[in-house]
Amino acid sequence: MPPKPVMLVRPPLGILLDDGFWDEMEEAGIDEVAIQWLALLDDQGGDQTRYPQIEDTHPRGLAAVGGEPVQRTPVAAYAPDRGLYDGLTFSPPDLPDHMTSESTKLKLALRKATERGFGIWLMDDKGYFLFGGFGDGTQRKALACVNDPDLAGYAVQRARDTCSNFPGGSGMILDGPDFKWEIKPGHRDDMFVEECGCRHCVRVAESLGFGYEHVLEGRDAFKARLQNLSPQIVDDQLANRGGLFGGLDWWLEEPATADWMRYKATVIEQHVRAICDGIHEYMPDMKVATSSRMPALAPITGHVVRRKMAFSDIEMPKLYWWYGGVAGFRGTVANWVDTLVEWNAGLTREKALDWFSAAFDVPMPSDYQPSEYGEEATDAWFDTTVDDQIRKMLAQTGGPERFVPWVGLEHFGSKWVTPSELRRLLQRMEAQGVQRYAYFVYNSVTPEIWSVITEFSRK
Ligand SMILES: [Zn+2]
Repeated sequence: MPPKPVMLVRPPLGILLDDGFWDEMEEAGIDEVAIQWLALLDDQGGDQTRYPQIEDTHPRGLAAVGGEPVQRTPVAAYAPDRGLYDGLTFSPPDLPDHMTSESTKLKLALRKATERGFGIWLMDDKGYFLFGGFGDGTQRKALACVNDPDLAGYAVQRARDTCSNFPGGSGMILDGPDFKWEIKPGHRDDMFVEECGCRHCVRVAESLGFGYEHVLEGRDAFKARLQNLSPQIVDDQLANRGGLFGGLDWWLEEPATADWMRYKATVIEQHVRAICDGIHEYMPDMKVATSSRMPALAPITGHVVRRKMAFSDIEMPKLYWWYGGVAGFRGTVANWVDTLVEWNAGLTREKALDWFSAAFDVPMPSDYQPSEYGEEATDAWFDTTVDDQIRKMLAQTGGPERFVPWVGLEHFGSKWVTPSELRRLLQRMEAQGVQRYAYFVYNSVTPEIWSVITEFSRK
């Protein structure tokens, strides 16, 4: 069966009020829709931004705001049941009184869609409302620590609240959190500037038998090793350090680096498990989906996917392949290679890529080098790198039933994955038996992209 999208829609959610949208989905063979951000657009007060967002050129988005871009403030799509949040540090956003009728319209539209047989997925929205808005890719000021148990507690109550306001939802998607994975100085996702160190972080570190400063020491020791890569060290890595125990030796040579990795895996697991278990406690039938990056990058972000499958229903790894911007795999590989070459005089780009490929256990074709990532990918790249990561995702999640990877084409000013690249990605997914994916995001779909998506979904 060819892969079908769960189609993500983001504000303006007026798109969902139009029966034409649902007819279009049905005609395309798409029977699941996810609300990427359950927010209404208020024309009064607050920090107003442009809707549709600049990359969102779909005519339905423009039609939903009256045909011309508008400035709006995203607000909550329902009035919270405040009693649910008693005793938690965080409080839910209010629905402004004058938006009540908009909220009712959205509820009715989603109920109608459910009655038509569509599956509706909802997303955890705490990040948007607690961390101040959505969408520009710049570093946001974190108001809450992932190790604060109240944050997971809030996510659980928010999920209950959302599901009772929008009943009939078939799944709840959690996006992240991730420890960062880039090394390029100044990058949004630079792992070496990531630190919190609050009392909750200290508590988790101490539960593992060390102090929080030891975690940072491990991270810095990792950086020092990246800044000391000679061609000889790379050759030694390739020739002599394979296997389970060869890899473990590498980490234990600097024990703090291994503790840093263990800390990250512990933090992510405790947080995500608490949310999954909490949602299941109140809503045993609700499917909870958790997200992660590519298998190559997941360990460094703190995600041990095979362990997560013990408490999560569905894993949604990100098949994000673009170059430039943030969060795309080609961009990440190029950033690592550039930075390693900058840090290590004497290391060629070829050696740096060899090291990356071995360290992250991801094959790279010889006909498509990071310096060429701004150009169309070769077929060999799909047959090696892309195929490898899809296969590992399926192996980690145990097969297509509990696997719904994210597919998207861009983030924040990156180069876009082209329609031809999307087609080849979907072909690789089909060949490996992937049945569903989450397409991010409908609002930015062009006619060319739509025709690629529907080539598969209509089959
Ligand atoms: Zn903290």
